[in-house]
Amino acid sequence: MTDIASVREELVTANRILANENVLDSFGHVSMRHPHDPGHFLLSRARAPEVIELGDIMEFELTGDIVGAEPGKPYSERFIHGAIYEARPEVMSVVHNHSPSVIPFSVTGRQMRPLMHMCAPIGGDIPNWDIRTKFGDCTNLLVTNMAMGRDLAAHLGGRNVSLMRGHGSVVVGRSLREAVFTSVYMELNADMQIKAQTMGKINFLSDGEIEAITAGRKGFTFERGWENWCNRVGRPYLPGEWDIGEGYSQTDR
Ligand SMILES: [Zn+2]
Repeated sequence: MTDIASVREELVTANRILANENVLDSFGHVSMRHPHDPGHFLLSRARAPEVIELGDIMEFELTGDIVGAEPGKPYSERFIHGAIYEARPEVMSVVHNHSPSVIPFSVTGRQMRPLMHMCAPIGGDIPNWDIRTKFGDCTNLLVTNMAMGRDLAAHLGGRNVSLMRGHGSVVVGRSLREAVFTSVYMELNADMQIKAQTMGKINFLSDGEIEAITAGRKGFTFERGWENWCNRVGRPYLPGEWDIGEGYSQTDR
């Protein structure tokens, strides 16, 4: 989907979905790399995701500098997005959240790991970035400049997910749907892991299972979740571009 008006609509929809699925609350944000200019990205003005509208979507350079219209104050943590797009050319969407079930794993040393097949793409090696390590113990924990954003991006490396100690996490995807999908299932995995560990030793997915499920996750899977989540928030479902032959995989059911 490269029609910019539709892309902006999809970004509004992603904000509403992530708020409704308990990933974003009044804070946190989701961006897309500009489909026509890989050196720019699209992100709302600083506003609660649940009430974001089309006119709130702004355009930025990867440095966080504003391009064009400025309908309001930008998010102070937009540098998270720019720094990850700078480091990861294949990444097309970034979510920064304060996903509530995920936070405990960032402050306890307890490792989060996929325990259910839909959650596999969060990965078996989830890092926990601590702003204190490089920027000292007097920050307000927010990523408010490119140096901080680049340090976080370096810590994320080639993974899909990194926790942020005492703050939240970042999730990346090769599409907006993929980043939203992984974010929703990371929150679910965290909640299930907390519950499961009260019942006994957890039989987590193996590295081989994580790899096989992640490699097989394609268009049909994303469309099925996206259509359902659009319906839940009363947003129009705009079918994505995917081929039923290539897109259909073992994870689709
Ligand atoms: Zn934050």
